[in-house]
Amino acid sequence: MAKYIFITGGVVSSLGKGISGASIGKLLQLHGFKVDMIKFDPYINVDPGTMNPYQHGEVFVTNDGTESDLDLGTYERFLDIYTSKANTNTAGDIYKTVITKERRGDYDGATVQVIPHITDEIKKRFTALKNKCDISIIEIGGTVGDIEGLPFMEAVRQFQLENKKNDIFSIHVTLVPYIAGANELKTKPTQHSVNKLREIGILPDMIICRTEYHVDESLKQKISLFCNVRKECVVEALNASSIYCIPETFYKQNIDSLIMQKLSLKPKKKFDKTWFTKVKCLNKFDKIVKVVVVGKYADFKDAYKSIDESLNIAAAELKAKAEIYYLESEDKDLVEKLKNYDAVLIPGGFGNRGIEGKIEAIMYARENKVPFFGICLGMQCSVIEVSRNLAGLKNANSTEFDKTTKYPVIKILDEQKNVNYRGGTMRLGNYKSEVKKNSLAYNLYGSSEIEERHRHRYEMNPEFVDILEKSGLSVTAYHKGILPEIVEIGNHPFFIGVQFHPEFASRPTKAHPLFKGFISAALRNK
Ligand code: GLN
Repeated sequence: MAKYIFITGGVVSSLGKGISGASIGKLLQLHGFKVDMIKFDPYINVDPGTMNPYQHGEVFVTNDGTESDLDLGTYERFLDIYTSKANTNTAGDIYKTVITKERRGDYDGATVQVIPHITDEIKKRFTALKNKCDISIIEIGGTVGDIEGLPFMEAVRQFQLENKKNDIFSIHVTLVPYIAGANELKTKPTQHSVNKLREIGILPDMIICRTEYHVDESLKQKISLFCNVRKECVVEALNASSIYCIPETFYKQNIDSLIMQKLSLKPKKKFDKTWFTKVKCLNKFDKIVKVVVVGKYADFKDAYKSIDESLNIAAAELKAKAEIYYLESEDKDLVEKLKNYDAVLIPGGFGNRGIEGKIEAIMYARENKVPFFGICLGMQCSVIEVSRNLAGLKNANSTEFDKTTKYPVIKILDEQKNVNYRGGTMRLGNYKSEVKKNSLAYNLYGSSEIEERHRHRYEMNPEFVDILEKSGLSVTAYHKGILPEIVEIGNHPFFIGVQFHPEFASRPTKAHPLFKGFISAALRNK
């Protein structure tokens, strides 16, 4: 059985196609189906690894070290699956494959064109996971009408033509805006968007209306008539208090049954509603904890999407609400402002800008016994801070920021140059480490063997481990006994830095142990 659900979007971007798709995936999963999701992004970058998080949000890293769009994080969290290279595609990567084949002479003299060569490659990738799951949900990034999205839409059209009707379901997510002057919800943008889609040859089976207000029966009737979609297949997606409540709102509108009907699917097991109840608890809290993230992209929350989710989930498990604030590390009143929060988190990042601010923030947290959690670059900055301020290594630095520093406490290691990493010079994806017993990390993980995702070039320099341990910063986990993975300060309520990215492993029904430990410490600090 190979069934496909296509999700396209119209009117505006950022409508939450990923969340809608993942919510539908969740419902189908609760009916017993194996569901996977694939993202297609129409931009020319081969992967989002090189893209500015300001424009595109965080780079999500999969277990196999693929640098992907943040939607894969949504898929993983909703469906509790592990995604990989096959779950993410860009126009750049697709063109690269086709051009490489052309250079190799694989096309045997043919003129290589968007149709059929690019569209063939896209269609091949639609089926990439068909043997791994019952239903592939395929999200086409961008908005209908975008020039760069056309080959993808064309591929969907061809795929519909070439496959059985009851193997494919097509969903269009649109905006139904509220116009205050008229005190009305407007359906015209949806009508135009669906017209555009039909011009390309895609007839949607369902329209999901993103809206701030309830879409009543008469509006649904109107959308149904003008867009040629059955009325019960016009569904609303109101703004939700938590994204994890969306599957239940879809369930109440019968979306799962309508899809199963068209796809000729019978539920594989009795529908299990416990997931709904579990995620509902995410909204119940009796205390608030204020966490500040000191980073470079403070005014664009999507740049730290998985961290945000991880903090929220961890707090919710502790019956608290995490109020997450972002401070620009170059803010000149940074330290003064830090006094307003219960805990400090320094996330990953690249490049020199804002480093000194991060180091100051860490000194503040260390000296004032404020819970501190450093992730990747945040961990590296904590090593620099302790080197400079406790170990007396004046101007210690990472060679990323100061190539000639006398004390390169963070650097690209020689050992590392001999290791053949998946990302070339970048350590990407899952790596195991051994955690020392009697450490904070061990207490939180409850295990001495862990595996976490990485995305970095630089490492803590083992030559400085001795002096730093004497100064109070212990290395409590190593990869293969060589590469420091976790650092901690013992005489502190919570001071931990990790070379990896634990934020990618949180699930709404299972907080990550390090985030949970961090939030518990923050609650104790109130
Ligand atoms: N810039 C640092 C490195 O490359 C940290 C990377 C990160 O935080 N993801 O090692």
